[in-house]
Amino acid sequence: MNILVANLGSTSFKFRLFRFDGADGATMLAKGGYERVTDYGKAIDDCLSELKNGGHVKSAADLHGVGFKTVLGKNLTGCVPADEKVIAALDGFKEIAPAHNPPYAAGIKRFREKLPGVPLVALFETAFYQWIPEAGTRYAVPEAWSQAGVRRFGFHGASHKFIAERSAELLGRTDVANRVRGLYQTGPVAVKGPTLRVISCHLGGSSSVTGIRDGVAIGTSMGLSPQSGLPQNNRAGDLDSAAVPFVMKTLGLPLAEVERQMTKEGGLLGLSGVSNDHRDISAAAAQGNARAQLALDVFAHSARHWIGAFYLELNGCDALVFTAGIGENNAATRAAFCAGLDQLGIVLDPAKNAALRATEGEISAANSRVKIFVIPANEELVVARETVRCIQAGKN
Ligand code: AMP
Repeated sequence: MNILVANLGSTSFKFRLFRFDGADGATMLAKGGYERVTDYGKAIDDCLSELKNGGHVKSAADLHGVGFKTVLGKNLTGCVPADEKVIAALDGFKEIAPAHNPPYAAGIKRFREKLPGVPLVALFETAFYQWIPEAGTRYAVPEAWSQAGVRRFGFHGASHKFIAERSAELLGRTDVANRVRGLYQTGPVAVKGPTLRVISCHLGGSSSVTGIRDGVAIGTSMGLSPQSGLPQNNRAGDLDSAAVPFVMKTLGLPLAEVERQMTKEGGLLGLSGVSNDHRDISAAAAQGNARAQLALDVFAHSARHWIGAFYLELNGCDALVFTAGIGENNAATRAAFCAGLDQLGIVLDPAKNAALRATEGEISAANSRVKIFVIPANEELVVARETVRCIQAGKN
């Protein structure tokens, strides 16, 4: 089965083509992408020409599905056929994800025109959070706001679902791993063993922490939009809502400018004044830049706040997992997050932690009750796998 994953950003289009022999065993056949995209139709045409010229996809018959990592939709989530309902749902929430929903809607339409008959599948980033108890998703706002869609949704669902599945495998919990695999087809099925409690830290250009019980998310640091939780590269993260009217009135900023500054000049960039990239900030901090050090400290403080919240909600933790660019590569960040938590059973092995980079492995000390893992993220592969599962479940 050949599955194409289409990743549409606000100004970019990236793709990967995978060949599947079973539901999970995939080989990547091709990857590519275009920056500064203004015409998504043309970018998609170019992608299909590239795949044809590379000999991978000579005609639509060689392509068995296209997967889209859609962000969020109004009244719709899960892993579902990318049809008119998906397009309407993306359109309904374009104000929450203005950089992503319109490109995905345009991309799905274009693929439908170009590849009639090829199953198209949307995996919403919110899908993994469908089973969070309502108390964990509601904001204390007027009912009309809730009805309009103001609630906590959760993002990075593809990444955290992969962590739920892989950490269960690493802990020998096949029952939980199987539950996670079938989650979007069957919903949560019963598991046999004791409760499995995992806290997953996706730390990258955008970051989030998710609490996972028996393979199902029970809470997320992300909110209505990805403009919440940990400080992101350029985005503020958690912020008292009163800050917006306050700066509008005292600094005389119009709403559009406040939105621009919150999303482009906040986060790690705003804190450090150096860069939005963790590597540059770490280098500046190592040279004594106090604002860069403060950015790293705020990042760790916020992450520990959320790790603590889920440790309590889960009544403990069996595995703490680090994934994505920073989580996989930055040992100092992992050490900062785990510092002084021995009374909670979280103890890093400093040598294992320092040695591990961009590969899967365990970095906890022998006396750590909580296993600490690094698990590399591969979101495109996750989308491709879920696309295969959706097609095989016969939903298209
Ligand atoms: P992602 O969004 O998962 O691609 O992660 C991007 C972020 O990961 C970048 O902003 C970097 O700060 C960080 N990152 C990537 N590679 C490294 C590395 N080798 N060491 C430290 N941080 C890294």
